[in-house]
Amino acid sequence: MTKAEIPFRDIAIETASRETIARIQLEGLRRQVAQGLKTDFYRKRFAECGISSPEDIGTPDDIRKLPFTTKGDLRDAYPFGLLAVPKSEVVRIHASSGTTGTPTVIYLTQKDLDRASDTMARSLMAAGGTKDDVIQNMMTYGLFTGGLCFHYGAELMGAMVIPTSAGNTLRQLRFMKDFGTTMIHATPSYLLHLHAAIEESEEISRGDLRLRKAITGAEPHSEELRRKIEGKLGIEVYNCYGMSEMNGPGLAFECVFRSGMHVWEDRFIAEILDPDTLEPVPEGGTGELVLTILCRDAMPLIRYRTRDLTRFIVGECECGRTHRRLARFTGRTDDMLIINGVNVFPSQIEEVLLRTNGVGANYFIVVEKEGVLDRLTVQVEITPETFADDARVINALRDRLKAEMSALITINPAIEIREPGSLPVSEGKAKRVEDRRPRE
Ligand code: ADP
Ligand code: ZN
Repeated sequence: MTKAEIPFRDIAIETASRETIARIQLEGLRRQVAQGLKTDFYRKRFAECGISSPEDIGTPDDIRKLPFTTKGDLRDAYPFGLLAVPKSEVVRIHASSGTTGTPTVIYLTQKDLDRASDTMARSLMAAGGTKDDVIQNMMTYGLFTGGLCFHYGAELMGAMVIPTSAGNTLRQLRFMKDFGTTMIHATPSYLLHLHAAIEESEEISRGDLRLRKAITGAEPHSEELRRKIEGKLGIEVYNCYGMSEMNGPGLAFECVFRSGMHVWEDRFIAEILDPDTLEPVPEGGTGELVLTILCRDAMPLIRYRTRDLTRFIVGECECGRTHRRLARFTGRTDDMLIINGVNVFPSQIEEVLLRTNGVGANYFIVVEKEGVLDRLTVQVEITPETFADDARVINALRDRLKAEMSALITINPAIEIREPGSLPVSEGKAKRVEDRRPRE
């Protein structure tokens, strides 16, 4: 690819000097502090750090004077505790996947949404998307940002967008064939599933499809898995990192050189910190990604601890973009599980167990691969009284647990009822989760 062929949406910003980016970040940070001061939450937090005005931020390094924000803070602020504009200015809300218990919610004004769509369009164009593409979005629509936030960006780019949402693989394949889909957005597991479905299908073969690229994210995956999917489907696969708290999937994206995800530094400040000391790691070192959003008025989010572990890739990208690149994520600093792209905290499962009569003292969570998809099993000890009861009572308990859990975590776990005292009791800190998925 020659230099002139490298696609950009906004070449001036995307290749701006580091000095320009630093200036934009400083202005953005001050604006966010001003927005923060409009919320009780940040006014109090800032005061504890001696910050009472945007003027207290004099240099980019002054970000280190500001407090951190956690997912717990977001939950505590539910529903409107972080609102920094009049409620009538909000045009949409989104929430994190799988957290229907106390969701972490974001709110956006029309301008916020326009900027989010522009960021998404920029990402898609960096990956070589154009207005000639037919983009089929196989991520769940609804509160989850992977649906609508991706969708609006693809539309803004001018592509033809097919909002099939997740699931119903045969219908996905028919649409891909009939409308000449060139680009798809799906989790890595679903891409493998799609490939298997094409192999098995008597109706649709790879030759019927015009697919050339897939955008994938929402869950950790390896370089080997990317290459496997690319080989199987004969396409280019782009890694994309996002989270609802940061307006969804346009936060960091691979360019056509596919060597790490450019994080759009005019709209986000990314720090990589040692999760224990919360001090910056040496250049190129791995640590927790901490993000500050600069492009949202309705809901400021300052030094948000993502709990995701990664590093900056040292050196320049061949594309000429000056926005730094994030390497693949290597894990998390908390116990959040990602099951088929949906976030699940073991504590949510425990919450259901603890409030259900007949459930005993011990439980164990197993995550496995079943084919290409993840499977979550909850093994539950029941009380001796319930165990002595007849099978109908036990089956009803199992059904109830299943229904309550799937309502809370939005995925369907298998429930295995166990005899009292049959699950291993660990000494010290209980180990209640076993992730048996192969690390690809
Ligand atoms: P989504 O799952 O749609 O990205 P959520 O807000 O529900 O959005 O979850 C965000 C979390 O998903 C991130 O904090 C991270 O742990 C994980 N995640 C998202 N994209 C990636 C990716 N490309 N690689 C690894 N993990 C990812
Ligand atoms: Zn690049």
